[in-house]
Amino acid sequence: MSSINCFRTAKAPLHTFASVSRFRYSPNPIVSVLRRKSSPSFVTLRVVSSMAYEKELDAAKKAASLAARLCQKVQKALLQSDVQSKSDKSPVTVADYGSQAVVSLVLERELTSEPFSLVAEEDSADLRKDGSEDILQRITKLVNDTLATEDLTKAIDSTLTTDDLLRAIDCGTSEGGPNGRHWVLDPIDGTKGFLRGDQYAVALGLLEEGKVVLGVLACPNLPLTSIAGNKNSSSSDEIGCLFFATIGSGTYMQPLDSKSEPVKVHVSSVENPEEASFFESFEGAHSLHDLSSSIASKLGVKAPPVRIDSQAKYGALSRGDGAIYLRFPHKGYREKIWDHVAGAIVVTEAGGIVTDAGGKPLDFSKGKYLDLDTGIIVANEKLMPLLLKAVRDSIAEQEKASSSL
Ligand code: AMP
Ligand code: MG
Repeated sequence: MSSINCFRTAKAPLHTFASVSRFRYSPNPIVSVLRRKSSPSFVTLRVVSSMAYEKELDAAKKAASLAARLCQKVQKALLQSDVQSKSDKSPVTVADYGSQAVVSLVLERELTSEPFSLVAEEDSADLRKDGSEDILQRITKLVNDTLATEDLTKAIDSTLTTDDLLRAIDCGTSEGGPNGRHWVLDPIDGTKGFLRGDQYAVALGLLEEGKVVLGVLACPNLPLTSIAGNKNSSSSDEIGCLFFATIGSGTYMQPLDSKSEPVKVHVSSVENPEEASFFESFEGAHSLHDLSSSIASKLGVKAPPVRIDSQAKYGALSRGDGAIYLRFPHKGYREKIWDHVAGAIVVTEAGGIVTDAGGKPLDFSKGKYLDLDTGIIVANEKLMPLLLKAVRDSIAEQEKASSSL
């Protein structure tokens, strides 16, 4: 196969601005207005391509959809198998590595002119150890079978060898940072949900000069219709959603496995917290449910929490299934960028706000980790000030209680 062009940080293309978050984008005609921070009265008219990130978005959608197909196949076999117990981590490992390899190979194939940097969760170290030959063969076959469904093995010259697979996985070991472009991938976000047969996501985003400019979330088990007030969706619900967003262009959703037209989505417009519902991690080990419950009761939220795994929460929020997301990991946990990059832009382009518990925007420019003031919260513009106050009060109460112990 052709050599894989990863690990180098690509420069921003000419059709984008360094201060992308500040430009207003008018898709038709192809003109945008850029107001400079340093001289607010100075307005420049510049012609930009309405197709900014179009090629990258096509590649990202294809990569995430194909990786999701691989994950679906593994999850189906896992759930049908009488032999593999649900605590067996090996199917997850196969799917994690396989998904990462597929995304890496598809990006490489679709963005041939640009070397790329990929910050992803997995690396091949364990697969290179003695005794890993069987699992390596299994993953390679799975990836080859998945690429063959899109005729991509032909495009990649020939069937992948195990060495090709290891190289593709290791494309994801970039460190990220504030300069240039970095793709960011969680090949299976919500591993525990994946094992339970519940929600998980393939989450792929693109950072440019430390800012998120593109995000795609493939959520194979998320119903196409709202999950509001209906955590246990009926079996007749169609499932499988693909959310995508590019900076300044809004958020869209389409069925994961069909060519139907995407629809534009918006976050909930609820202004009264009593009418809001909130999302949190299914796993109590990932987020403090007690703290969320205290915040929700201060706000007057009446609905019980909606607990689901993975960045599927960000997808569901972007279309208004719920109005608030609360995430408060236990002390000492450091959030990774791949758990939030894609979800954050999917929500913000749909009109939502994503901040840390102190109200600061998330900073994805610091490498693999997010430096956070306790927790991550999401809401619409109207609810955010009330939410921030409730968060502040609840944290203060909690600290007071623990200092008096
Ligand atoms: P969620 O289902 O929203 O809790 O998110 C799943 C993600 O949480 C996983 O992909 C992990 O990267 C991340 N995670 C793993 N352990 C923890 C932890 N102790 N606290 C918070 N998040 C975690
Ligand atoms: Mg994750």
